[in-house]
Amino acid sequence: MNDADTHDARSARPLVDLAAAVRRGERRALARAITRIESLRHDHQAEAEAMLERLLPHAGSAIRLGISGAPGAGKSTFIEELGLRLTAAGKRVAVLAVDPSSRRSGGSILGDKTRMARLGREPLAFIRPSPAGETLGGVARRTREAGLLCEAAGFDVVVIETVGVGQSETAVAEMVDSFLLLLSPGGGDELQGIKRGIVELADLIVVNKADGALRSAAMLAARDYANAVRFLRPATAAWTPRVLTCSALEGEGLDEVWQGVLDHRAALEADGLLQRRRERQARSWLWSEVQAALAHALRSDDGSRRLMRELEDATAAGRLLPTRAAERLLATFRRA
Ligand code: GDP
Repeated sequence: MNDADTHDARSARPLVDLAAAVRRGERRALARAITRIESLRHDHQAEAEAMLERLLPHAGSAIRLGISGAPGAGKSTFIEELGLRLTAAGKRVAVLAVDPSSRRSGGSILGDKTRMARLGREPLAFIRPSPAGETLGGVARRTREAGLLCEAAGFDVVVIETVGVGQSETAVAEMVDSFLLLLSPGGGDELQGIKRGIVELADLIVVNKADGALRSAAMLAARDYANAVRFLRPATAAWTPRVLTCSALEGEGLDEVWQGVLDHRAALEADGLLQRRRERQARSWLWSEVQAALAHALRSDDGSRRLMRELEDATAAGRLLPTRAAERLLATFRRA
């Protein structure tokens, strides 16, 4: 495991120092370590992996909370308010983001410096904007690794935020203990608008903006969701998704939401399900790494690339079944 010292001697020393500084909870070291795992340079990647191996035994004790919601639902207002409460109670809170769309939209969801500015000034908080990513898989891997680094640095709560559009919430649900879906009161329309699959992932459904003129709409929406949830098969008998309302702006209902997170965790722990959930996540992470490595190896090989183009053309033209094409591609790869 801890064979970092046997790596390139020139890079090993700073790496050991950096890992030690992360362990001491130094935020600048943590930021640098995350930059290292985000680097595309081959030598940096090898170093980063050695550093992660060194730190992995010190990860695992944080509460991993995923938060998803459509743009404008109030995620940053909510996370900042919750984060401030937790830091006021002496907890160390890290906020990371998964946003594979950042390159297209021209900025990551946390890239805007004005987001969570108050939380960002808290000594007990650490906020990391999402890196621009080509693929969801790549961004998800780096976010998972960044989360482990935060845990090794002693953070008590690691919040992983994602925008409620596309596939990223599935990826986030695969790396957290509790998944919270934040909604704004949009009446019945929203219930249809939000993909059923996302609601099914949620351990907690929170209707935000339950204040002023929106209060009654929020209550109605919560009732609709509570009804809808009753018809979904819960992921585990130990927990039925809880539907709550809050006002992130006025700071109302946030304590109840946090209590919901703690209750969910306690319910999982009581049945040994938390450990099992994390084990299952680690296994599926392994397999997504295998898939990514295979795809990369295929694309980096000239012969495979040529064959891949031929096979793509043949499948696109309907001359070849994709299943057969995949078999042929993998067969040449096995011989190589
Ligand atoms: P995000 O895109 O999900 O991160 O949403 P933001 O946190 O940026 O919030 C979007 C808008 O909703 C902003 O104008 C917020 O001030 C507003 N907002 C957020 N939370 C609340 C709330 O609890 N009540 C009300 N009335 N507005 C809110």
